[in-house]
Amino acid sequence: MGRRAATVQSSIRADPSRNLPLLQPSSVDDGGPQTEPREAGALALAPVPVKTSATLEATLPDDYALAPEEDLLARAARARRSLGDDALVLAHHYQCDEVVAFADATGDSFKLARHAARSRSPFIVFCGVHFMAETADILTRPDQAVILPDLAAGCSMADMAHVRQVEDCWEALREAGGGATVPITYMNSSAAIKAFCGRHGGAVCTSSNARRLIEWALGRGERVLFLPDQHLGRNTAHAMGHPLESMVVWDPALSMGGLTPGALRAARFVLWKGHCSVHTRFTLEDVHRFRAAHPEGRVLVHPECTFDVVQAADCWGSTEYIRRVLDEAEPGSTWAIGTEIHLTNRLASEHPDKSVRSLSPVMCLCATMYRIDPPHLCWALESLVRGEVVHRVSVPTEVAAEAVVALERMLEIA
Ligand code: SF4
Repeated sequence: MGRRAATVQSSIRADPSRNLPLLQPSSVDDGGPQTEPREAGALALAPVPVKTSATLEATLPDDYALAPEEDLLARAARARRSLGDDALVLAHHYQCDEVVAFADATGDSFKLARHAARSRSPFIVFCGVHFMAETADILTRPDQAVILPDLAAGCSMADMAHVRQVEDCWEALREAGGGATVPITYMNSSAAIKAFCGRHGGAVCTSSNARRLIEWALGRGERVLFLPDQHLGRNTAHAMGHPLESMVVWDPALSMGGLTPGALRAARFVLWKGHCSVHTRFTLEDVHRFRAAHPEGRVLVHPECTFDVVQAADCWGSTEYIRRVLDEAEPGSTWAIGTEIHLTNRLASEHPDKSVRSLSPVMCLCATMYRIDPPHLCWALESLVRGEVVHRVSVPTEVAAEAVVALERMLEIA
């Protein structure tokens, strides 16, 4: 049996204490978590203790770094029980099984943000990467603390677009002329980039709604600036019928992005030169090798993969789409999956009646996501039990105010 489907919805409400609109549960089927988030407990609205320490944030204490994993897991379980409904533990699909076992909900970045937004728990322990924790902080109240167990858990793709570089690109687009540009940023971007989009009439998108957001943007302007993943932008725009010739790539390492004003003016899509270091490891040769060995097999990949891989695949889509396709696949079918290895392995064990493997023979692992391990999770949970908040992720209010505008637009459109 596949995982049960859950039905949640999103709508906007005002948070008077921060003067920001926040997400609320509503009725969009987003594929469903493995477990529902807990209801808030009696202490759920208690003020967040703010005893934080720069030292604690810098180094994992030896007590955690050197302890055997089974001890850490037992200690983390005790701490988790003790925190009860005052903590919500969220885990991304790419987390390792030991961490996922602690999750009140699992999902992609957007689904986890929704869980954070509707939670009343004062502590949200976010087992994901930095941009996800930032989004959760933007969507929660100021009296809730979002904790990333290891602050070094970043995302190489999000790091490929810095807001000052994007502002330079924006200025070049303005000078090139040729009509209005609408910026669309993938969820996998920093809060500052989301704020940039909010400020300039743009929106956030996810891998499941990128098409709708691009359609919306083209209804408002002459061109789209798509950040920071060129592959998601290219794959989606091409699937919508836009030719590759209508797209240019802005390379932030080059003067004028490596483009001329004429090329910018003529482009319908300006794709930021960013990529996912995990999904771009899948190659066309991987597809050919799998097809030669399994002529009856099917290839299912994520849109962060390169254009040639996506074109050669049988089907492609978001993490939630990949889960759905496998849930609905016939028993006995054979699949090669082009996404992060922890998710692929979990899908293989959830579908023993199907043959499910990674498309690549090399380990396609998200190394930064993998930083959230039992020692860091145990440290974060036991610290909360002691009344200490370690590794809180906090987005400045002015950045959050603009970023939430871009997130709201996505929810209104998608
Ligand atoms: S899989 Fe890629 S896009 Fe996702 S968090 Fe890891 S590096 Fe970032």
